[in-house]
Amino acid sequence: GDVTMESGGKSSKDKVVAVVGGGLVGALNACYFARRGFQVEVFESRDDIREAKIVRGRSINLALSHRGRQALSRVGMEEKIVSKGIPMHSRMIHSLNGKQSPIPYGKKGQVTVCVMCRNAGLVCSGYSMYNIWLWSPTHVLLLWLEGRPDGSAQSLQADLIVGCDGAFSTIRKQFLRRSRFNFSQTYIPHGYLELTMPPVAGEFAMKPNYLHIWPRNTFMMIALPNLDKTFTCTLFMPFDEFEKITTGDDVMEFFQEYFPDAIPLIGVEALKTDYFRLPAQAMVSIKCSPYHINDKCVLMGDSAHAVVPFYGQGMNAGFEDCIVFDEIMDQCNEDFSAVLPEYTRVRVPDDHTIADLAMYNYVEMRAHVNSKWFLFRKKVDDI
Ligand code: FAD
Repeated sequence: GDVTMESGGKSSKDKVVAVVGGGLVGALNACYFARRGFQVEVFESRDDIREAKIVRGRSINLALSHRGRQALSRVGMEEKIVSKGIPMHSRMIHSLNGKQSPIPYGKKGQVTVCVMCRNAGLVCSGYSMYNIWLWSPTHVLLLWLEGRPDGSAQSLQADLIVGCDGAFSTIRKQFLRRSRFNFSQTYIPHGYLELTMPPVAGEFAMKPNYLHIWPRNTFMMIALPNLDKTFTCTLFMPFDEFEKITTGDDVMEFFQEYFPDAIPLIGVEALKTDYFRLPAQAMVSIKCSPYHINDKCVLMGDSAHAVVPFYGQGMNAGFEDCIVFDEIMDQCNEDFSAVLPEYTRVRVPDDHTIADLAMYNYVEMRAHVNSKWFLFRKKVDDI
């Protein structure tokens, strides 16, 4: 960590790395660059998530798998995060008749961990550990690669800009204006909605060390445990179906038919109101290539590869981007003009494969019987 290498006449200590987006991947990536001695500045459009009581946005708990844990461990953050999570050793399948059957995860020892609410806040604790400067709330509007902006907004110069600003990346927009940049995005017909299952007499309402799944072909509900003994239930369903449910009674009828065992656990009143609290959220799969522009800018995490969430690998793949980049930094002596193209060469095929597998699993899940889907999923978890 203390070694600084000379490259391009400047040592890493004199070089500024601007990380745009302080979500899960941006926060972790900032630690990786700071550990090498770069001056790291993170730009995040939301308030400092470490101080937020309620974190707005998507899923509050995420499954952290082996590849994600490895990325955290390299910057000394694995224990910190895993100790605040709940281990999930198996999946628990809920049949229509209420029967529950466990299906274990991958290989022995590769237990998936449920990262808790405020997960990005935990990763952001690396800012103080590594002396990283956070600009928040600061929304980055434009990326300039040459010349100077017109002076209408504040500007900052950096030796490297790392776009970690999520699926709808501002940084990626600059890439879109360039020749030979490939880009595709696909929205799937399904949306998702989150519901909370409260504790019963101060204890979890279901067995906590499982990822609970109610597979119903076109519909599916999953539930992940939280430290406060609640479960976050996520209902995945085609938007057409969400739109058919317009009243509290419709919700009850739908749950009676598909998830009857969940009704007493979530609670009738809560179901009738929480269901309408937020509209169902869309899910998008994004692929692009290359991930870099010259020696100046690189994309990582969802800004480079948003995937549909049916493998629970989006964040994990983004964390793995950080490790892969770090290894290439070693191989190429921190020379960005060599590191960035190599990163694209190595990483694009792997990320595209994860995106394809996630999409395949989504299709498989709808088209085939439930057991087949889970068998396939198990094979991929083992990779
Ligand atoms: P984001 O988390 O989107 O963070 C981007 C950050 O950039 C945000 O903080 C945003 O405020 C900021 N930002 C955006 N634009 C700007 C700008 N112009 N200027 C400054 N800041 C900006 N993955 C898993 O590994 N396991 C799971 O179990 C899992 N479950 C999921 C369940 C659901 C329902 C969904 C939708 C996703 C799930 N994922 C899961 C995927 C995971 O959420 C994402 O892959 C992960 O959040 C990507 O992290 P990121 O840092 O790249 O992007």
